[in-house]
Amino acid sequence: MGHDRNRPDVRGNQEEGGAPPTAPTAFGVLRLPPQRGLRPRNAPPITRNISCRALILRVRPSGESNREASLLTGEHGLLRATVFGGPKSRLRSHVSPFHSGRAWIYGDPAKDSKKLADFDVENWRPGIREMYERAAAADEVAGTVLASYGGGGSSEAAILLAETALDALTDSSGENCPGVIAWFMWKWAGLLGLCPDLTRCCQCGAPAPEASPLAVSPAEGGPVCRACRASGRHPGLFPVSRSCRLWLETPPARPGPPPDPRALTEAAALATAVLSAALGAPPASGGRWRR
Ligand SMILES: [Zn+2]
Repeated sequence: MGHDRNRPDVRGNQEEGGAPPTAPTAFGVLRLPPQRGLRPRNAPPITRNISCRALILRVRPSGESNREASLLTGEHGLLRATVFGGPKSRLRSHVSPFHSGRAWIYGDPAKDSKKLADFDVENWRPGIREMYERAAAADEVAGTVLASYGGGGSSEAAILLAETALDALTDSSGENCPGVIAWFMWKWAGLLGLCPDLTRCCQCGAPAPEASPLAVSPAEGGPVCRACRASGRHPGLFPVSRSCRLWLETPPARPGPPPDPRALTEAAALATAVLSAALGAPPASGGRWRR
C-alpha cells in the first residue's frame, strides 16, 4: 500500500534555505504556520562537507545501483543523500532504516546533490526487523517525520523523540506497538505545536467538564461543548473519554500505551486526525496500526 505516498520532497526545505510555509508534498500541501519554519532555527549553513549525528529514516533505490537515503539530523534537519556502492558494500549495509550514528556528507552545491560518504552506526536497532508489527510501526514513525519535514524548527527535539519511539519498538511486543505509535503521534503533534487545548470549548471558551467525555474537533482545534454542538454543525468530532483525556494532557515521558484499550483507540484516532488536519492527508500509511 501507498508505495509513494510517504515521499515528501525534502530538498526544497534544505538547500534553498527557508522553505515557504506551504510546500507541495506527496500528501498534497503541508500547512504549517510560517513562524514554525521548516528549517531549524540558527541552523549552521549547509557547507560542502558536513559531519553530524543522523537517523536513517528511509532508503530507496536511485539509478542503476545506487541508493538514496533520507536522514534526520540534529543540526541540519532532514537531508537526502546518495549512497554509492553495490549490494555488498559495507556502507550500504550500514545505511539502513532506523540505524543511527554519525554521518559524513559531501555536498556539491553546483550539482545540487549530496553524497553520503560514510556512516558510523552507533545504534543498529536489529529488533525492529525481527517482527512485522515493529517494522510497520517504525515505518509509521519514519513516514510521519518525513511528511512533516522532520518536525520543523526543533530538530534536536525531533531526533530525540523519533529515536525514543524507535528504541521502544526494538523490544516491544506486537501488542504494544500501537501504544508506542499513539504515544509518538501525540508527542509529535505536540512538537509541531498542533495539540489542541482540551480544557475548554474551542467555540465558546466554556471550561470542559473533567468528568464527562469530550467531543474534539481537530479541524476546529479543540473540544466542542454540548451547547455549541446543539447550535451548529461540527463534522469530524472525535470522542475522548476521561482516561484518554488524562493521558493526552500528561502523556508519559517514555513510550507506553494509554491506560485502557478504549483510550488507546481514541488517542490513536485523535492523534492521527490532528496530524492529518495539519499535513493535509493521513500521515504515513494512514493508521494501518489502528485496529
Ligand atoms: Zn461551546
